[in-house]
Amino acid sequence: QRGKANWVRYASGMELPAQAHARLGGDLRRALDQGELRVVYQPIVGLADGRVLGVEALVRWAHPERGMVSPADFIPAAERTGLIVPLGRFVLREACRQAAAWLAEFGPEVLQKVAPNVSVRQLHDPDFVADVRAALADHGLGPDRLVLELTESAVLRGQQVLRVLHELHDMGVRLALDDFGTGESSLSLLRSFPASIVKLDKSFVDGIEFDEPGTAAADARQAVARAVVQLAGALGLDTVAEGIENQEQADRLLRLGYTVGQGYHLGRPVSAEEITALFAAQRAAAAA
Ligand code: C2E
Ligand code: MG
Ligand code: MG
Ligand code: MG
Repeated sequence: QRGKANWVRYASGMELPAQAHARLGGDLRRALDQGELRVVYQPIVGLADGRVLGVEALVRWAHPERGMVSPADFIPAAERTGLIVPLGRFVLREACRQAAAWLAEFGPEVLQKVAPNVSVRQLHDPDFVADVRAALADHGLGPDRLVLELTESAVLRGQQVLRVLHELHDMGVRLALDDFGTGESSLSLLRSFPASIVKLDKSFVDGIEFDEPGTAAADARQAVARAVVQLAGALGLDTVAEGIENQEQADRLLRLGYTVGQGYHLGRPVSAEEITALFAAQRAAAAA
């Protein structure tokens, strides 16, 4: 509408107009076929010692004209068109392949887990469990090294999904509830759902370091963060605090009982090569 030479910058997380979404959806098929999708990895870190315990796998689209397209801009389109199924399969397989390669190069201590994200649409795909089994077997990755990140809204969708989740759990694959606290029915969900990990949403971490009198919002965040870690502990679940952007937040979360975190302060999502370099540096430091 604005003419060919025009461009508009969309902030990450901002919704693209429906038209742009439709176009992206069309391009996405080509992106998959032409290998324009990449997987980046963000460290999941021990808060007390800074040790990398695992990585979350996040998809990126290296678009030939648009540059790097954020998943917030194309995952919704992929979900609508069903392309999320082959896209998710690609990310799953790539994450398993890469994790197996790291374990082969650096040994079993280098990472406990690799964690790709899974959409509800994938859970409804009749081949999903077989795809997971194949991704593990083809790359020789133990199921205990794989964590599938699911959002609450995804797992609230009825008996069939629950059966799939129990099958995965029985295989030894762990399930993480992503963005925890933002969904509708967090508490009742935890009882029926075979989760191993709860990821405290970034919205409860933002501002958690402030506790001057009168900042009720920060107090509320601390209350939620404390309640989540206590509940998780009571149910035997591990926790990860998401979106940690400074040391004060990390310190506060440690005091509230969190031992594991993720966020720009601890490590941004980076290429597999950069994670390899990080592991090499860790190994060199341990040997020194
Ligand atoms: P998520 O699974 O909750 O992933 C965390 C998001 O927060 C990532 O954004 C990550 O880059 C960002 N993040 C991490 N630490 C910080 C921080 O300290 N500050 C801020 N501001 N952000 C931080 P990303 O990579 O843009 O992904 C956004 C969402 O898109 C993900 O949220 C996930 O829901 C979805 N997504 C990403 N990759 C995939 C995928 O392969 N499949 C599916 N189904 N969804 C994906
Ligand atoms: Mg996630
Ligand atoms: Mg998350
Ligand atoms: Mg999130």
